[in-house]
Amino acid sequence: MSIPRNKVRAAVAAEAAHPAACPLTPYKPSEIYSRDVFNLRVMRERLPKDVFKRLEEAGSKGKALNDGDADIVAGSMRDWAIEKGATHFTHWFQPMTGITAEKHDAFITPDPFTGRLLNEFSGKMLIKGEPDASSFPSGGLRSTFEARGYTAWDPSSPAFLLENSRGKTLYVPTIFFSYTGESLDRKTPLLRSLSALSKQALRVLRLFGNTSATYVNAMVGSEQEYFLVDRRYYALRDDLKLAGRTLFGSRPSKGQEREDHYFGAIGQRVLNFMAEVEERMLALGIPARTRHNEVAPAQFELAPMFEAVNLATDHNMLTMEILRNVAEKHGLACLLHEKPFAGINGSGKHNNWSLCDSDGNNLLDPGATPTDNAQFLVFLAAVLKAVHKYAIALRLGTVGAGNDHRLGANEAPPAILSVFLGEQLTEIVTGLAEGKSKGTSSWKQGVMQVGISSLPSLPRDATDRNRTSPFAFTGNKFEFRAVGASQSIAPANIALNAAVASTLDDIATELETATAAGASLGTAVQSLLARYYKESLPVVFNGNGYSAEWEKEAEKRGLPNLRDSVTVISHYTKPEVMDLFLRHGVLSEREQHARQEILLDNYIIDVQIETKLVSSIGRSAILPTGLRWLRELGEAAKLARELAKPRKNEALLEESCYADVRFHVEGLKKGLDELDTVYAGLEGLEDTLEKAEAARDRLLPLMAVCREHADALEVMVDDAIWPLPKYNELLW
Ligand code: ADP
Ligand code: MG
Repeated sequence: MSIPRNKVRAAVAAEAAHPAACPLTPYKPSEIYSRDVFNLRVMRERLPKDVFKRLEEAGSKGKALNDGDADIVAGSMRDWAIEKGATHFTHWFQPMTGITAEKHDAFITPDPFTGRLLNEFSGKMLIKGEPDASSFPSGGLRSTFEARGYTAWDPSSPAFLLENSRGKTLYVPTIFFSYTGESLDRKTPLLRSLSALSKQALRVLRLFGNTSATYVNAMVGSEQEYFLVDRRYYALRDDLKLAGRTLFGSRPSKGQEREDHYFGAIGQRVLNFMAEVEERMLALGIPARTRHNEVAPAQFELAPMFEAVNLATDHNMLTMEILRNVAEKHGLACLLHEKPFAGINGSGKHNNWSLCDSDGNNLLDPGATPTDNAQFLVFLAAVLKAVHKYAIALRLGTVGAGNDHRLGANEAPPAILSVFLGEQLTEIVTGLAEGKSKGTSSWKQGVMQVGISSLPSLPRDATDRNRTSPFAFTGNKFEFRAVGASQSIAPANIALNAAVASTLDDIATELETATAAGASLGTAVQSLLARYYKESLPVVFNGNGYSAEWEKEAEKRGLPNLRDSVTVISHYTKPEVMDLFLRHGVLSEREQHARQEILLDNYIIDVQIETKLVSSIGRSAILPTGLRWLRELGEAAKLARELAKPRKNEALLEESCYADVRFHVEGLKKGLDELDTVYAGLEGLEDTLEKAEAARDRLLPLMAVCREHADALEVMVDDAIWPLPKYNELLW
């Protein structure tokens, strides 16, 4: 009997002995950068001056474009795209499925008078689309018979081209909403959260005498972790293909214990892959910057330069797509799941976040002068308070069945949200909270007067590196590390923007009131900081976030420890969460209820797919292999009884091997039976929360039982007949 895995092994081994030559085809990043983007530079060149100006404003200020302008922009976009070889266009949107969606239409329309093809793309077609929305999750916002969903152009993110072997498609970034005007996507609330954030941040800046800034944006750089495996092995693993993670597989002989992979020399095959990924990213105007090996074997990281969050979100969605596609071309499979392999690290996405005003000032940069410090300390207070007060909302930005295998598992930031500030900043914050100096070397004894006495200036790298904190201040930005590798960064940033907008709103109101009543800004700020820092101190933690002591300590401090997604999602409708998103119109009540439903549904679907995979792989691949090996052992035992002439009660090794294998075959069979029964029972549950809880509490543990027996069999059964590629093969 031929086992496909053995053929692949032979082919891979042969290739390793004679690696294929790879021709050198260098490119110049500066020449390729933004080649396929209809960005401001191209528009400035191609559009009439006045139209360009109005379009630019539409992008930065969220103003609507008039019909005439839209036609001109559309025409120019179409001509540019067709010159570059485009045949189709699509509205590109981000429904609640977690991935992007598109429906292509050709530019062409036949002209009945001339019998030729005309290229058509009007302002109307640019601005609004109407995809059939019936199959996208709406959480009850849209009934299937009224399937209308609309897409609307987002001029703050430029259109771009993606190619296939026969041409290119023009992609127009859009928001997606229902007939009733409710949001069905992740871009709309992100844009809403940004306008709230901008408005509130500007109020604070005005208090500090800033009259020039016209808006404030959130800037994000997202570090993307991923795994690469050989596509031939991948093709033999339905679990990797359909669920993104291995549901079976015994631990490899060598895992990450030596940590020799981290920052190690990057292998040639992977480097070729990375270079092509970067080339494609650059062509799309995504500033790819950093690449390196990660901690786990076969794990890597890529980081672009930070950008405005709306763009960074679109770019990260594209980056994940590029990673998958280029991997395929290189005979690899890129795994973006949060935990593809048990026993070694999973993958996350570090969301580096800061605030930048329209003049280019980073509001989270401590700066060098005391007045800068005072303004910085106010923004810092807003962030600390936001993370403390809205921990659940932030945690909601990271939910997903996949991420549950990572958060709180001693490899990634825990499910408890805390903020790392580093020694120096913590000292300042504590000092201000206590209204006195701690008398350390950083500054002199006595009460600190914000903006009067000189606070120490904080050099960029004043904070050391703490890898275990879920939310770390790293010099001039916060790094939110709990986002999962496969997830959109939108939900985390929506929550972060909304939470900080909310605390900035309170701060601005308090300072405006105090100064209007005649208090000096310095006094008002001093008293506000003391109170804010005091209230927020429990969320500051600089120690080891992975330790068991921290869990206990966090509980004492009253910080929520929401370990699994279902629990977090069940808190969505708590008043403190809903009020946050309602306050500045980021999400309506109905939209939030819908989102809760969708998140639960997504969780259930993920676990159900995994269950079906465990059942099918278990029954059709592992069980038969176990039974086959059992028969061989049985025959060996029978023969041994006959030939070895043992004494009557003497146990034979063949028999004990047989008993061991039989134990696990039986355990696996029982586990699978039970899994199928429970799965069938779940179908009848109506309530989504109840169903998600059942999936978590009943299906996941049974899947683990099946896996335990299957993995035990993997190391007992003859390697030559084992059907699934093993961890050693996938990882090394
Ligand atoms: P790490 O040490 O965490 O691995 P990297 O250099 O890999 O750091 O990534 C840091 C990320 O933070 C990059 O994407 C970078 O562009 C981004 N970043 C740097 N400064 C800022 C900032 N002010 N605001 C937001 N992101 C930033
Ligand atoms: Mg990082």
